Amino acid sequence: MTNKRFIVNTDYLYLYIKMNISGVKILYQLKKNGIEVIPIIVSVPSSLKTVNFFLYKTEDSLTLIDAGFDNDECWNAIQNVLHDHGWSVQDINRILLTHHHIDHVGLVNRIVNDHPIPVYAHSLAIPRLKREEDFLSMRIEFFSKLYQEMGCKEQGEKQIAYLQKALQKNKDKKIEAAICKIEGNQLFDFDVIYVPGHAPDQIAFYQKECGWLFGGDLLLEHVSSNALVEPDADGIRMLTVYDHYHSLKRVLGIGAELVLPGHGKLIEDPKAAAQMRMDEVEQKADKFLKLIQAGSTTAAEVAKAYYNETYLKEFPLVMSRVIGHLDYLEVIGKVRREMIDGVWHYSAD
Ligand SMILES: [Zn+2]
Repeated sequence: MTNKRFIVNTDYLYLYIKMNISGVKILYQLKKNGIEVIPIIVSVPSSLKTVNFFLYKTEDSLTLIDAGFDNDECWNAIQNVLHDHGWSVQDINRILLTHHHIDHVGLVNRIVNDHPIPVYAHSLAIPRLKREEDFLSMRIEFFSKLYQEMGCKEQGEKQIAYLQKALQKNKDKKIEAAICKIEGNQLFDFDVIYVPGHAPDQIAFYQKECGWLFGGDLLLEHVSSNALVEPDADGIRMLTVYDHYHSLKRVLGIGAELVLPGHGKLIEDPKAAAQMRMDEVEQKADKFLKLIQAGSTTAAEVAKAYYNETYLKEFPLVMSRVIGHLDYLEVIGKVRREMIDGVWHYSAD
């Protein structure tokens, strides 16, 4: 089955081809101002639905924005798309990374091993991509202290044991290529917009003339992107949900026409999508506030009361959500906390 839909504005051709070949595979092609973007969209068996990365072609260069998972599906997908356009991996001039997560950097080693090209990322991505031991040990210490102080007790200790094992197991997953630290707010054709929240190093690449925002996991259409608790370079907890909220607000402000996200469909109404996710932050914060007003005092108590058995099943994610929203409530002055016997206790008026 093949559907084709053409939307033609005066200077804007948006060719949208939907194909169904062995499952669902969606191909888009975007052309504007002599620039072409070819999304590479690979189905994944999770709520994320797809992992997306993008070839960005100008008259004299070919840029890869993000690099999928390190698996054969993603590798075959990029090879096929390159081949369809008469290109090969050797034609890629550079890689830009929106953030360090494994579903965005997977093919970097495969590409750069044979074809050494510059790889660009935010400075906070580098110790994570390089799996720097000092940094990763500091990160485990950070979580150990955090879970104790949030009242997680044995569930926190289990997670720390898991992180320590993973530290050994994932040693070979480091990115071998030299990473160029992105400095300033301009890189090639793009405004570089720092949009932390989902990840501490997340940046969005905005092609202003075309109105295209390569947003990584800042904004997804079909699912809210999680603001994951992380330390900054000095081991200080970032205000992830607060940051995420303000990163979304920034998207509302720049007036992008189209968001090209890391997962799911391209977002044709970024303002509505961003506003919906911001509303969700406020609604969830409000629910946690009500639990505190009703007598839950620690983050672990709020997590158990709100998430029930999911607290055990998805512990790090659940704690990220609760801690992130409690930080948000604290910054906007709705809750306070005090340390009692090494554990933070929250209260509200
Ligand atoms: Zn991510």
